[in-house]
Amino acid sequence: MPDFEPAVRQALGPAHGAVPVPVPVFDDETPAVANLDPGLLAALRRAAADAAHDGVAFVVNGGWRSPEYQEQLLHDAVAKYGSAREAARWVATPATSAHVRGDAVDVGPADARAWLAEHGARYGLCQIYRNEPWHYELRPEAVGGGRPPLYPDPTHDPRMRR
Ligand SMILES: [Zn+2]
Repeated sequence: MPDFEPAVRQALGPAHGAVPVPVPVFDDETPAVANLDPGLLAALRRAAADAAHDGVAFVVNGGWRSPEYQEQLLHDAVAKYGSAREAARWVATPATSAHVRGDAVDVGPADARAWLAEHGARYGLCQIYRNEPWHYELRPEAVGGGRPPLYPDPTHDPRMRR
């Protein structure tokens, strides 16, 4: 998902996973963060704690989302990109979205992304799509050096073909 969709965020609120203002990864009150898969959240917080020693602060721009919110983001993306085909390069359906499962987090700002690109695999945190440098998922096998190949965009991800 592109970083900000303010109009959508006003329509469905934080209870559905909207993040009107970026939040720290240590925020336990925001459902977008609190409802993430516990393994992903733990890895993210370990990485963020270590990054803090390097003067880098992580924020969450998106995390867990309700199916309703994901549907709304998809609807908005179709309007923005002009076709369902192009929208699919950026926003998954409620049935396929790793965000709805709590298995994906959109991280910012730029220096945090750069830190994760360099060190994230050590924590199992991996970029999945070349066109979404902010989108991270947990790939425990990456800790041992098995970093997964990058898909050019989500339409190349077999998980999206359902
Ligand atoms: Zn994402």
